[in-house]
Amino acid sequence: MTEDIGALQKRLRSGSLPHELLKPGHEVALRSGDRQLTRDELRTGAGQVAGGLSDLGVRTGDRIALYAANSLDWVVAYLGVQRVGACAVMMNPDYHSAEAEHILQDSEPTAVIADADRAAIVAKLGLRVIRLEEVPRAATPPMPDLTPDAPAAILYTSGTTGRPKGAVLDHGNFLAQGRGALEVWRWTARDVLVHALPLFHLHGLGMGIHGSLLSGGSATLVPFTPAAVVAELTRNDAERGTMFFGVPSMYHRLCDWLDENPTDLSHVRVFVCGSAPLPPALFERCDRLLGQPPVERYGITEGGIVVTNPYDGPRQPGRVGYPFPGVEVRLGELDEVLLRGGQVFKGYWRNPDATAEAFTPDGFFRTGDVGEIGADGTLAIRGRIKELIITGGFNVYPREVELVLEAHPAVQEVAVAGVPSDQWGEEVTAYVVPSLAARLIESELIAFAHERLASYKCPKRVITLDRLPRNAMGKVQRSLLTK
Ligand code: AMP
Repeated sequence: MTEDIGALQKRLRSGSLPHELLKPGHEVALRSGDRQLTRDELRTGAGQVAGGLSDLGVRTGDRIALYAANSLDWVVAYLGVQRVGACAVMMNPDYHSAEAEHILQDSEPTAVIADADRAAIVAKLGLRVIRLEEVPRAATPPMPDLTPDAPAAILYTSGTTGRPKGAVLDHGNFLAQGRGALEVWRWTARDVLVHALPLFHLHGLGMGIHGSLLSGGSATLVPFTPAAVVAELTRNDAERGTMFFGVPSMYHRLCDWLDENPTDLSHVRVFVCGSAPLPPALFERCDRLLGQPPVERYGITEGGIVVTNPYDGPRQPGRVGYPFPGVEVRLGELDEVLLRGGQVFKGYWRNPDATAEAFTPDGFFRTGDVGEIGADGTLAIRGRIKELIITGGFNVYPREVELVLEAHPAVQEVAVAGVPSDQWGEEVTAYVVPSLAARLIESELIAFAHERLASYKCPKRVITLDRLPRNAMGKVQRSLLTK
């Protein structure tokens, strides 16, 4: 008998993070450099941090912000916050004072766990700082009584338009996301994830850390460099990486490095890629240099990773695949991708207006992305609705133009955006990082586009750049391009 969707979601959401993530065991759970922590050590460490926080007066439901670079201590502190039943406020360690101030004022945490480099910024804001290097520890308190609906973390959206909003994810959301990942990528206790993603982001936290702990496998934290990642994937011992998760800009760098230093990586079980589009040319390059194409997946802070190419079936370049277990995907007005399911959040922090706007009357979350669902049921992402260019009265989706330009041999990377223009309203403009292989001639690239696209979609101008401005997750920051 097949399980109905309600029962499936209930099962995927059941439990709470501290209960499900902190299981006993002698096996290694986390590594970084020459430090490692077994599951028992992690469980004890998180329990003691929970004890220390509890002694400081932190209670279930309080908020504790984390503002520090990736490290094992970060993970232990985060799990301590979960273990005490508090809600973790995730902060990008690259935030400057003004950005940090917005998030801290909005989330009003009881305290901020910050590393040495960031503690001064927090102290200046008059908030209570707990230094990551000196998080207090005390006897482990009893397990908090948490339902799947209890808030587990607030993750701020990238804020490419307007100020970042705090998406509140509950325990059930994260557990459904993590359990879904185990199923779709066949993640087991034998896996070792090479983890080079930011921990404050859903991809690094919800997939990387939660998935590893739920699977019973382990994760090795490395700062991203191709050499460090390849070194972990080619070790000669039981710690050899079996999985790598990255964003497209990481795969670019990995492929460049592998071109110079050919290495057999065909034994790696799976490479997963997402957070920004994986250009088909890079998909092919990965296939050649890594020995397999990455599994491209699509996700969003408010919903987790929701769609993925199949692990076993064909991985299609330019398409993001099928929904995660228990996730419903459909297209709304303007072909907007709409999501519903146990892993999708319920609302923004103290922002009922934004929450109301974000959902359809029947409870689907509006992603703001434009999609296309093929005859085989796979989804393709065509861009953000807000990035739509309106030129001479016609609508142009940048991604469609980018896909065409990316196929030109002189183009290594490209981002297309609309630049205000008296004549056109907005002028389609291509920002191109030229490849080393061929010379880029503006008129030639424009002619190339005209052979493949309706005239109104073709760039009027081509601007060459050394690199595209990207955020920590490798997403192109279009607002910086057109400034
Ligand atoms: P974030 O909330 O920071 O994870 O950003 C989510 C956004 O990243 C989505 O709304 C998409 O616009 C974009 N995104 C994530 N994965 C992909 C993908 N595989 N292809 C294209 N865009 C993606």
